[in-house]
Amino acid sequence: MDSIWINAPAKINIGLDVIRRREDGYHEVRMIMQSIRLFDRLTLTRSDTPGIRLSTNLSFLPVNEDNLVFRSARLLMDEFGIDGGLDIHLEKRIPVAAGMAGGSTDAASCMLAMNDLYQLGLGKRQLMKRGITLGADIPYCILKGTALSEGIGEKLSTIPRMPDCFILIAKPGIHVSTRFVYSNLVLDENTPHPDIDQMIQTMKRRDLEGLCHLLGNVLETVTIPAHPQIASIKECMMENGALGSLMSGSGPTVFGIYDDLDKAKAAKEKCRELPFKCFVFVTDLYR
Ligand code: ATP
Repeated sequence: MDSIWINAPAKINIGLDVIRRREDGYHEVRMIMQSIRLFDRLTLTRSDTPGIRLSTNLSFLPVNEDNLVFRSARLLMDEFGIDGGLDIHLEKRIPVAAGMAGGSTDAASCMLAMNDLYQLGLGKRQLMKRGITLGADIPYCILKGTALSEGIGEKLSTIPRMPDCFILIAKPGIHVSTRFVYSNLVLDENTPHPDIDQMIQTMKRRDLEGLCHLLGNVLETVTIPAHPQIASIKECMMENGALGSLMSGSGPTVFGIYDDLDKAKAAKEKCRELPFKCFVFVTDLYR
């Protein structure tokens, strides 16, 4: 086998809580992660010319060590003394810097694909151990599906599957700095924390409506006041049949949950009519 391709799914956070800020500046989180069927695609091809060459359809993305794909390929090449070269093409479809772990899922998928291409024989847990050295979300992106992420994102456990539904994604064309969001987060008695444990209970009961009532992301307290477009998108989704709507990660992507595909498609058209530019996409869950 000289060439292999892999789809790298995006994630959304259906629950995101920050428990505390640690002495070292990191934040302890509790997040429910869910993969969705919005994919980047990586194609890896062995080459006789030594070195890693990365190309992508987005001209503004780095194609050197600054790209997480490059770093993940380098990590495995160095550890396993892989001879020859590797050409990687990354077809981006997941919006960049959107709160959907685009870079992390690309790195995770690159490691999964290299494991097959070079027959490295690593299990998922072994790949996850290597992934964490490059980024806190990478182990989850190797695991995929529905998971609870704790600690600084490195403690992962599988939880009951999220009930079947349709997802509308809307990403406004604004830039949100993750650093800005976390450094302006106020954690006090007024902070609205989502009830993550209760959410897991509703998932166990396969109660989609109950789950949607409990959606919560503590980072909205920072991102929404700075970018009111996010509130407008949520409102638009809720007025157009969503069972629930929430910002993913530190934003600016918003998602809506629907029990009916036609409703999700109709809401997508309504989001298109908002007075600012939005990337919109209807999809469902990736198991
Ligand atoms: P998260 O949800 O983990 O916070 P995100 O979706 O907000 O991630 P990314 O799309 O991963 O953010 O991109 C954040 C930054 O990382 C970008 O500014 C980009 O230059 C850099 N980056 C490095 N590698 C990649 C990659 N493969 N795809 C996208 N961005 C990348």
